[in-house]
Amino acid sequence: MPHIYPIVTYGDPVLRQPAAPIPEVTDEIRALARDMFATMRRANGVGLAAEQIGHPIALCVVEIPESYDTETENGPRLNPDALLKLALVNPKIVESSKKTWKLSEGCLSFPEISGTVERPWSVTIEFTDLKGQPRRETVHGFLARACQHEIDHLNGTVFIDHFSYARRLALKGRLRRLADAHA
Ligand SMILES: [Zn+2]
Repeated sequence: MPHIYPIVTYGDPVLRQPAAPIPEVTDEIRALARDMFATMRRANGVGLAAEQIGHPIALCVVEIPESYDTETENGPRLNPDALLKLALVNPKIVESSKKTWKLSEGCLSFPEISGTVERPWSVTIEFTDLKGQPRRETVHGFLARACQHEIDHLNGTVFIDHFSYARRLALKGRLRRLADAHA
């Protein structure tokens, strides 16, 4: 049975730590990825970074439903099925499209907080997969957004950093209360 981890929330310093690179994909890393998928699904998330369960190492998982993988309702799919569930070890965004789009995002580490984030429409990511193989994939749309959100976590960046000043100001009290829970 996979282990379900508690999810770290805003105010915990681990969320601001740059993740340490993973030197080798071991059975422990594979087990951690499996537990992260289970933890993410239990929380109804579409992505989870290892920092969010208290491990500042460069591993994140993303899984989006097929229904999110179109630009318009009933439109053509944007990514092949094989990419809708990804475990990324040491991921790096090596190319970003000029085209950007805005969407309201949430984050499992920020319960009940959402805000609009503008991100590139597609990105090319270099990473190591769970077999230890180097990979390079270009992803589009919502999947690209989820990957960017998770890779941000590995760099110590959280989604509120992308919010407008006005949105951050509006959320100030709620963010403070969330952070104060750790004091
Ligand atoms: Zn997040």
